[in-house]
Amino acid sequence: MLSHDQITAVTRLRHDLHKAPELSGQEANTARLIASFLRSTRPDKILSGIGGHGVAVVYQGKAPGPTILFRAELDALPITEASALPYRSERESVAHLCGHDGHMASLAGLGLLLGDTGLARGRVILLFQPAEETGQGARAVLADPQFAGLRPDYAFAYHNMPGLPLGALAVAPGPASCASVGLRLRYLGREAHASSPEAGVSPAPALAALMADLARYAAPCRMDAGFRLATICHLNMGIPAFGIAPGRAEVFVTLRALSDTALERFTADVEAQAKACAGGLEVQISHHDQFSASINHPDAVAYITRAGQMLGLREADFDLPMRASEDFGAFSQSAATALFFLGSGEGLPDLHDPYFDFPDALIPTACSVFQSVLMQITSDADCYNRV
Ligand SMILES: [Zn+2]
Ligand SMILES: [Zn+2]
Repeated sequence: MLSHDQITAVTRLRHDLHKAPELSGQEANTARLIASFLRSTRPDKILSGIGGHGVAVVYQGKAPGPTILFRAELDALPITEASALPYRSERESVAHLCGHDGHMASLAGLGLLLGDTGLARGRVILLFQPAEETGQGARAVLADPQFAGLRPDYAFAYHNMPGLPLGALAVAPGPASCASVGLRLRYLGREAHASSPEAGVSPAPALAALMADLARYAAPCRMDAGFRLATICHLNMGIPAFGIAPGRAEVFVTLRALSDTALERFTADVEAQAKACAGGLEVQISHHDQFSASINHPDAVAYITRAGQMLGLREADFDLPMRASEDFGAFSQSAATALFFLGSGEGLPDLHDPYFDFPDALIPTACSVFQSVLMQITSDADCYNRV
């Protein structure tokens, strides 16, 4: 458990991070702040510049054992903060409105505890990952040669969840967050005079047919294996003039499914439909903001559930998997992972809302969950065989 002084230190760290937010891929200063905060905990190594501005703080145990990774995110959002907090963002149009400042402070708290007690067994990696909001950071970290020697057996991360009671816990085995991808579909035809549209090639009929097809996936449906959600995020056709029949159109659509393979099939179906609607138009398709599904491993979940019981945390009434995506899913492919959720309070503005602010009171709770998980794994003789 964090001491009073440690709680004061990590709370101050969060406020410092909150004041100086940085966008995905530009988190150089945040990374420096984290590394300098944790240097006093005497880790065995601090690696920086992983997958961009990622920082891995490594604590080696006295005896061999599994590698356990805990992850927080470095990045903030391109939104102007609306609150009048004394530590509000000092940067125009950039703010920590997803609570990543709080996630970093929680992980830094675990670093303080490790600095006090050392690690009996195994190895702990505190990973401060860049570019979560764009879905690029986790993959970039995994692809970085510096990370090759740090491959974890277990990986844990949490996201705070406004609307749930403060400190209430939600975790379950299986899918925790959806796989998603942004498709940019472009129809290229030819403009014509609006009085002779037949002389050109308009994308309007193709667009109408595609919209009708995508509407089948627009309504919320059950979160079972057949779950498919398509959200049309942007449409653009022709130019705003009454004298010109349009020659090109563009659609941004975000697709979601419960697994990476289900998303691949969904993407192939939408692409085939987009081409089938095209008629004489050229079709261009590109993929953006790709997120893997986070799949929770039952053993990793059991450690979190037990931590919640030992700490007396109430169970949150929260449906899993959540529809949103989390790039933590990229770690699910090579480690036993658990993504869990902690309530950040009822009546709190939503994530990404200009008034959102992470509650400081959640930092010690999150830190205690991490510490409990760590103690359970390092004292579990079978922890190797379980993975
Ligand atoms: Zn976010
Ligand atoms: Zn977030």
